[in-house]
Amino acid sequence: MGSRKERVLVIGGVAAGMSAASAAKRIRPDMEVIVLEKSPFISYGACSIPYYVSDEIKDYRDLIAVSPEAAQNERGLIIRTRHEATAIHPDTKEVVVRCLDKNTEERIAYDKLVIATGAVPIKPPLPGIDLQNVFTLRTLEDGLAVKKYIDNWSGREACVGSPECVYVKSPRAEGKDQPRAVIVGGGYIGLEMCESLRKRGLDVTVVEKMDRVLGTMDNSITSVVEETLKTEGVRLSKETTVLGFEGTGGKVSKVLTDKGDFLTDFVILSIGVRPESSLAETAAIALGVNKAITVDEHMRTSLPDIFAAGDCADALSIVTARKVYIPLGTTANKQGRVAGENAAGRETRFEGVAGTAQTKIFDLEVARTGLTSLDAERDKIPYFASTTQGRSRAKAYPAGKPIFITYVVEKETGRLLGAQMVGKEGVAHRIDTLATALYGRMTMDDVARLDLGYAPPFATVWDPILVAANVALKKMGRR
Ligand code: FAD
Repeated sequence: MGSRKERVLVIGGVAAGMSAASAAKRIRPDMEVIVLEKSPFISYGACSIPYYVSDEIKDYRDLIAVSPEAAQNERGLIIRTRHEATAIHPDTKEVVVRCLDKNTEERIAYDKLVIATGAVPIKPPLPGIDLQNVFTLRTLEDGLAVKKYIDNWSGREACVGSPECVYVKSPRAEGKDQPRAVIVGGGYIGLEMCESLRKRGLDVTVVEKMDRVLGTMDNSITSVVEETLKTEGVRLSKETTVLGFEGTGGKVSKVLTDKGDFLTDFVILSIGVRPESSLAETAAIALGVNKAITVDEHMRTSLPDIFAAGDCADALSIVTARKVYIPLGTTANKQGRVAGENAAGRETRFEGVAGTAQTKIFDLEVARTGLTSLDAERDKIPYFASTTQGRSRAKAYPAGKPIFITYVVEKETGRLLGAQMVGKEGVAHRIDTLATALYGRMTMDDVARLDLGYAPPFATVWDPILVAANVALKKMGRR
């Protein structure tokens, strides 16, 4: 090791990587913490990209939590953007790094390594998939490219995507026609983009392979979402498989499917992600579910002194105690912090995930935690599902909205396995109570007994969560 400082090397500079680096430096300021990031950006919220494209967020720089300069000056980290790790040598504890601007290569030694390489969009080898204007939406650069495309079409001054560029609105936008969009994939990102593009006045079609949007969520919830898509003028083609793309002049003009062709000006391909675990795999680090890097509760990989966190890693389901791959920003931050703390010598644990997620689709709040019916079927857990309609406010109080709740309950024990909700208000945060119930391994009896608050503007005297628990108990013959 010579006289150099003890070193934590982090590969990947977004949610998991920056959380790990900051935690390690906070605990051990004497250690040198280096972050390698192949893109020009670090520490940004990809979750806000749909609101940047919709123009609700004007300046992409608002998506960035910490600039490389601030990370260096205020947190004492060494940030190397446009540096790609190309190989890990666990035997010599070195990483091969390519500087993408200078096209040079060097080896950087580490004492502890954190792999936080995230995930990449799934891009199947379909004919025409590499045509111009077939976009994926994963990185800030992807978000800049989509917004630039729409802005250029409508005649606005486009953001050129350089870190210095500020979004400039031009009056030339008025009165211009808009491009047509086909979104392939009706998952939460695809549907958030529906809202985003409709807000920009675009004609939007969603092509979805399954018989419903939002993946494995129950029909009781997704049918409400599909109704809203229809009301908002989004065309939805379900049970439709994309076969390829056709173009004119190198630009996509048609999406070919088993249900016919869809004319379009651009495509957003949003059919999921896969963990970016290729570096780890080449270094003989064990992979598990979905080829994500297998980690223990300390975020340790199968090799000594190498940790992994975020969308490249797996996690333990607190519901089934099985390994799962549920890539979410909230998990990436938490896993990153635990990986960083342990890399700095602490003994902290990441207990696992419930898969709690919220999304806004037009004026709907949609949320889930734990297992859906399809998840329970896949895991061969005997269950029943119970759906209830409640209200967001007391009946006498104006403007209350319906809330639909579906519980997935273990048949034998009455244990809550998962919950899903949809409604125009009072959904996004209510799900957290049920996520907490999952952590407490609560039964329907336990949930029905919770002392939840009441005031007319916020709930009914029996909160929808309690009403739904009583309905589930009735189904079990317990009421
Ligand atoms: P990433 O964000 O993928 O970052 C990994 C980084 O590693 C990348 O910058 C990559 O360039 C870099 N890298 C990879 N390989 C190398 C290498 N060899 N050398 C150097 N650098 C490398 N999650 C939520 O919880 N809630 C939401 O509402 C939500 N909304 C979302 C909306 C959108 C549009 C998108 C795209 C994602 C959303 N997510 C949401 C998911 C969330 O953004 C991700 O879970 C999170 O970004 C994962 O963080 P990460 O650090 O693990 O990986």
